[in-house]
Amino acid sequence: MSPKEETKIDITQEVFKEPIEVIKQLTANVNIEYTKVIQTYVLENRILELILLKNGSSYFKGKVVWIGNRKDDSQGTVFCVDTKTELKKINPTAENTEEIILDSKKETILISTESKAKCSVCGKDIEIFDEVMGCPLCEAKAHKEHILDWIKMKHNCPVCKKSLDISSTGQIIVD
Ligand SMILES: [Zn+2]
Ligand SMILES: [Zn+2]
Repeated sequence: MSPKEETKIDITQEVFKEPIEVIKQLTANVNIEYTKVIQTYVLENRILELILLKNGSSYFKGKVVWIGNRKDDSQGTVFCVDTKTELKKINPTAENTEEIILDSKKETILISTESKAKCSVCGKDIEIFDEVMGCPLCEAKAHKEHILDWIKMKHNCPVCKKSLDISSTGQIIVD
């Protein structure tokens, strides 16, 4: 491998796992400094760029502000990105992401996105900006707000119809 190729590291599995795994890769390969605030790693120097790609072309970019957990305690990493006009949360999951590459030379995270699943409540694509939750009993995934509203009204899964409830911490639980 040439030195150029060695600067690109596949961090897809780390991102799908948890923020600390991503931070380990970042501190080993990029000159970042961070402060840990509860479950969130706030980047001190805003050098790390995040770019979203669809079919190889970039459609979104900004600087990473913080890297944190999902609010529902499910596995995975959330990136908060500053586009200069707004702060956007990026939620990469197996449903919306093909591959995540850390380019240590360019200090950039490149996320190849692809909608592979539709919301089981509204039927629309699950995109990388969407917060996603799923049924603990079947493979059903949905936009977080949609499945929470559904369970509040119907107390079941929109797909497998088994009884579900929402815990006091906002997680979907088997009733
Ligand atoms: Zn939906
Ligand atoms: Zn289900």
